[in-house]
Amino acid sequence: MKRVILLAGHNFKDKGCHVNLEGKTINEFDLTTWIVAEIFKKERLINIDLVAKARNDYKDLVSEINSLNADILISCHFNASNGISQGTEVLYAHTSSKGKRLASVAQDILVKHLELNNRGIKATKQADRGGSILNKTKPVAILLEPFFLDSVKSFDELISLMDKTVDSIIQLLEHLEKNEL
Ligand SMILES: [Zn+2]
Repeated sequence: MKRVILLAGHNFKDKGCHVNLEGKTINEFDLTTWIVAEIFKKERLINIDLVAKARNDYKDLVSEINSLNADILISCHFNASNGISQGTEVLYAHTSSKGKRLASVAQDILVKHLELNNRGIKATKQADRGGSILNKTKPVAILLEPFFLDSVKSFDELISLMDKTVDSIIQLLEHLEKNEL
């Protein structure tokens, strides 16, 4: 059985990027926690031990992750730039061939479901954004950026993109259940 950590990116102090829709501010952390809980409720995979995780220890998330002895880490984020850019990308540790392969699988699934601009997979060094969680943790790790939150224009669009992201991650878990890394 593979143990997979699904990590909600950011936390209640550092909520990540945001978008303002119909007078309400939606933070990245609102969405990463929602998506992790939603996938936990919906997946029905016998051979995946899914661990839903949000940050506890503000000093050392890396050792917190490593203490869970997982095979795979999927860190969930959403992107932001200039309020215009849109597209999908997946990050992996630049030294990890398994991470690169898994990032490719995840990217293909996300692009197929979301049908946004394919920004490709990104080799990430320790000093880069998301770098320490990818490079210093023991599991094969990827970081998902399914879409640019700050370019979303309505709640309808956001709900549609979130539903497609949930479907994508469940399909990724199904892939992991059936295939070796
Ligand atoms: Zn983020």
